[in-house]
Amino acid sequence: MAAYEPVESPDESTVFPYHDLTPPTTADLFRARETVSRHLPETPLVRSETLSAELDADVYLKREDTLPTGAFKVRGGVTLVSGLDDEFRDRGLIAASTGNHGQSIAWAGREFDVPVVVGVPEDANPDKVAAMRALGADVRKHGADFDEAREQVERLASEEGYRYVHSANEPALLAGVGTAGLEVVEALPGVDVVFCPVGGGSSASGYCLSVGALLDADVVGVQAEGAPAVYRAWAEGTLAAHDRMDTFAEGVATRVPFAVTTEVLRDGLADFRLVSDDAIREAVARMYVDEHIVMEGACGTGVAAALAAGDDLSGRKVVIPVSGRNIDAETHRQILESSEYAG
Ligand SMILES: *Cc1c(COP(=O)(O)O)cnc(C)c1O
Repeated sequence: MAAYEPVESPDESTVFPYHDLTPPTTADLFRARETVSRHLPETPLVRSETLSAELDADVYLKREDTLPTGAFKVRGGVTLVSGLDDEFRDRGLIAASTGNHGQSIAWAGREFDVPVVVGVPEDANPDKVAAMRALGADVRKHGADFDEAREQVERLASEEGYRYVHSANEPALLAGVGTAGLEVVEALPGVDVVFCPVGGGSSASGYCLSVGALLDADVVGVQAEGAPAVYRAWAEGTLAAHDRMDTFAEGVATRVPFAVTTEVLRDGLADFRLVSDDAIREAVARMYVDEHIVMEGACGTGVAAALAAGDDLSGRKVVIPVSGRNIDAETHRQILESSEYAG
């Protein structure tokens, strides 16, 4: 089976000839919705009484944690795999992931009967690894962090001929992820601002192309201050890798900004905030104590940024995606134990 050779990439990740680097349009999101709604339920948008009271605002949680796999990414996986060219159905897919992108592709691969390999870092969240294996994926550990696992996956893709499912430079995946925002448009057309966690930028891109484009709402990106690669890409227009990557929140831990999402975010984000790991932990603890919601660190970034905005949100309609619930039990227990909020 002939393998594809990588082509010139606009960013520091590898892309292949089958990667279209044109961002999706809002119309593409509507098309993706037909696919997504055949395979996945809509997710609830639920008012948070505690955050609304604290911020003197109407704060709504978009409960993406209620999707199969427990994170929003499966919307993108289903959309991409459903439209896959026939030649790739036999070759199979390969993805690099700290866990949730891999679960998304594994879930979609099972749904459409396509084999899936996922490369994860050596210290990957064990619960996420177990979940991917349970969905039938061949999980291979390599490297100290996401970007090292990604480079290994990119090598395997060119050597073995798997279809590399990039975590951001994939218009179909971004269109699928964006269907969450279309649901918000319908459920809450008066939304003023969305605080969206950013790792590779797929989720925030989706909100820009939906609530941002259709309602003129402000989409605010949020990263951990120890891993600000995409913030820097957004602020400075650079696709250079960032040297620093230090956050416990693996869902937003990436050193390399990606071309397609950066293009959408540069155009679409109203603002971009950075939050500390301590603030993320407090957000995770608070959401458990007040709302009995289990959220992972990546997801805590959005809550932390909304809390930090404080009075600025007074009287406004705010949406925070509960992007994922796949925190391992031990990390969650430690967060609660050391939290002032839970104590
Ligand atoms: C992947 C992920 C994010 C970051 O989303 P991107 O689309 O990569 O920016 C945030 N939260 C959770 C739970 C995730 O799995």
